[in-house]
Amino acid sequence: MMLTFNDALTLKPVTPAPKYKAYNLSNFEQIPQVAALSEELRFEMRVVGNVFPFKTNNYVVDELIDWSDVPNDPIFVLTFPQRGMLNDEAYEKMANVIRNGGSRQEIKVVADEIRLTLNPHPAGQLEYNVPELAGEKLNGMQHKYKETVLFFPSQGQTCHAYCSFCFRWPQFVGMTDLKFASREAGQLVDYLGEHPEVTDVLFTGGDPMIMKSDALATYFRALLKADLPEFQTIRIGTKALGYWPYRFTSDADADEVLELFEEVIASGKHIALMAHFNHPRELETPAVQEAIARIRATGAEIRTQSPVLTNINDSALVWSKMWAEQVRLGLIPYYMFVVRDTGAQDYFGITLSRAWEIYHNAIQSVSGLARTVRGPSMSATPGKVHVLGTTEVHGEKVFALQFLQGRNPDWVTRPFFAKYDENAIWLDDLKPAFGEERFFFEENSRN
Ligand SMILES: *Cc1c(COP(=O)(O)O)cnc(C)c1O
Ligand code: SF4
Repeated sequence: MMLTFNDALTLKPVTPAPKYKAYNLSNFEQIPQVAALSEELRFEMRVVGNVFPFKTNNYVVDELIDWSDVPNDPIFVLTFPQRGMLNDEAYEKMANVIRNGGSRQEIKVVADEIRLTLNPHPAGQLEYNVPELAGEKLNGMQHKYKETVLFFPSQGQTCHAYCSFCFRWPQFVGMTDLKFASREAGQLVDYLGEHPEVTDVLFTGGDPMIMKSDALATYFRALLKADLPEFQTIRIGTKALGYWPYRFTSDADADEVLELFEEVIASGKHIALMAHFNHPRELETPAVQEAIARIRATGAEIRTQSPVLTNINDSALVWSKMWAEQVRLGLIPYYMFVVRDTGAQDYFGITLSRAWEIYHNAIQSVSGLARTVRGPSMSATPGKVHVLGTTEVHGEKVFALQFLQGRNPDWVTRPFFAKYDENAIWLDDLKPAFGEERFFFEENSRN
């Protein structure tokens, strides 16, 4: 039987939904599975959890983490603070403050000090890419690549749980002057009116799916109502399918959210969820599978992305399993990222050569339908740089690279080469191949 949109909305949740319960630094030791861990491990979590944002919930704790495999369980590593995320010096500094019963204020001072050493805004996010309207900076938006505007709705700047590797973390830790935010759907519409080159608006955060349906509706309807013939697609960058799939099944306004998706599609625009899945485990629960079916029945499409992360998903088997399962569930694998140069990169980071090896080994064992995924790629200052692979040209070992997105659109898909470097983890570590002074996209020689 064919599902119609409305049938989709009346599908009964297959999983009885628990009530959302958030855990953070103040209450995580009440989680029975955590209370059963060693005091040493819990102390480490307290120390690191005071520097990086930490929040998890009962779905992650009860449905996703395999507690018999903690501390190695990938979903545990993904959401709980890990000792390895701080270097010894930073760790000892914070550990001492806590051992000595430091006040909230003392803890905060040390935490801010450590955070500032962790490159909280990589790829020049604060300085560049902030668009202007009538000479005024639009701080809740970024416009880096011609056809897509990033929009940070102010109500969407948190998540159902936090990923320990997240580069957005400066937005969550109360350093408010670093926070992007916008309440202004009107500004967004005005900006698009002046920029007909923009076809896509990517709602991002945090996680826009943390917003109530009426907040989402305010933004979406403003876009649908406006006269923007070039504007085509609402994208929503979200981790809700991974961290709280009930958002689309049994939350009080779940049906309203799905109706809103239908409304977007009925208006002739497209809607794409850019869903973050870091591990195949996140696709296994009845709740997530039902959420996916309900979203797909509205006509919205789901594309997937994840960084490749040491200690979480640094194996080809994990990726091929994840992509195959995504295709089976009707999702479209889209991006594999290399983790960027911020936060706990030493702990999660992976060399470019290893990332490519994982991609290379994983992609050859999945159907062509899963080979839509591009990567590994780095979202660096000049653009999204795709590591095509390693090869040899006239006896010189090199990386072949290309831009998937570029500050200058003409850079996109131009192959270029860097000297092979086994230890390189980011674009900055790479030097041009063949004795060239600089890469083609660099204006001045490096110094
Ligand atoms: C990745 C990205 C986009 C979207 O790029 P697509 O290739 O269309 O997926 C837009 N803006 C920024 C800043 C990005 O990093
Ligand atoms: S869900 Fe996304 S924005 Fe939120 S913590 Fe994870 S990676 Fe960061």
